[in-house]
Amino acid sequence: MSFSFDLLGQDGAARAGMLHTAHGDVPTPTFMAVGTAGTVKAMTADAVRATGAKIVLGNTYHLMLRPGAERVARLGGLHKMMDWPGPILTDSGGFQVMSLAKLRKMDETGVTFRSHIDGSAHHLTPERSMEIQYLLDATITMVLDECTKFPATHEEAAKSMRLSTRWAKRSRDAFVARDGYGQFGIVQGNVYKDLREESAAALRELNFEGYAIGGLAVGEGQEMMYAMLDITAPLLPTGKPRYLMGVGTPDDLLGSVARGVDMFDCVMPTRAGRTARGFTSHGVFNLRNARFIDDGTPLDENCGCLCCTRHTRAYLHHLFRAQEILGPMLLTMHNLTYYQRLMQDGRVAILAGNYDEYCQATRAGWEEAKHG
Ligand SMILES: [Zn+2]
Repeated sequence: MSFSFDLLGQDGAARAGMLHTAHGDVPTPTFMAVGTAGTVKAMTADAVRATGAKIVLGNTYHLMLRPGAERVARLGGLHKMMDWPGPILTDSGGFQVMSLAKLRKMDETGVTFRSHIDGSAHHLTPERSMEIQYLLDATITMVLDECTKFPATHEEAAKSMRLSTRWAKRSRDAFVARDGYGQFGIVQGNVYKDLREESAAALRELNFEGYAIGGLAVGEGQEMMYAMLDITAPLLPTGKPRYLMGVGTPDDLLGSVARGVDMFDCVMPTRAGRTARGFTSHGVFNLRNARFIDDGTPLDENCGCLCCTRHTRAYLHHLFRAQEILGPMLLTMHNLTYYQRLMQDGRVAILAGNYDEYCQATRAGWEEAKHG
């Protein structure tokens, strides 16, 4: 089985496809549940599967520090360790080094930093990041890049993007090709059209199995993010998957699919699930709110998840008020199921040629929470 992507249908710029990998197929558009440290927080692997998820994400930074990439490899790889035989995408570690690690120092070779856990010193290079992701047995390996700060001047963004381009080349050289495994390049360039074009052109020459759009959802706002997607997506090969990193809200997902994105990841549904926020077809609810104390209805009557078919809003409200572990478990389960269904129904709509109507109807549903 070679790593490949079939584009099965298009509605405007929105795409429906099928990604084929060594660890199984992934219908797109798809949302990847974030399994930071080898676990989707509060979820068993069976529970993740029950949400409809086909691919999960693991974080190189967390796993390299604890339990360590070599140890994960000795334990049979990340698939075996976390009971997830399906596809896994791992990030390069770069983004989290920049956001979590202490005493970072960046130079041409890579980034030197101290662990936020025990203060130990590490040097992450493109070559080491590829080695770690190989040891983890990532189905999809991401190149090491530098996520440019926002806002950045054109000069700063250009300098950073060109460093990322050199690292992408080194990452490509260090990637060990295996049947059914792929590597994605990451388009940078901040909010500058010419830089996005330069980045995409350089990455296309390296002929990656897929392309990510990086450096968005970092504070530029939805309007600017969409403007950058409108510029960047058409620069990418049509026959390869496109991944928008770290996005986003249900509304961001709908709008980004409309602009040609196939894959997403975000901590939003899992993090919100642990903090009593539920995404539903009627909008976002805070389950701690007193108005749910006697509400005997399901969280979302349109949802087939265990949380919605067996329990009530009043029970969820009680669990969060009583700080019971089951509250975050049930709501994470629901939120991930909601995100999966949003993408699955979107895929059906794209194939039927009515994606715009689907988005309009979905957004109209979200308005109900604001008025009800
Ligand atoms: Zn549900």
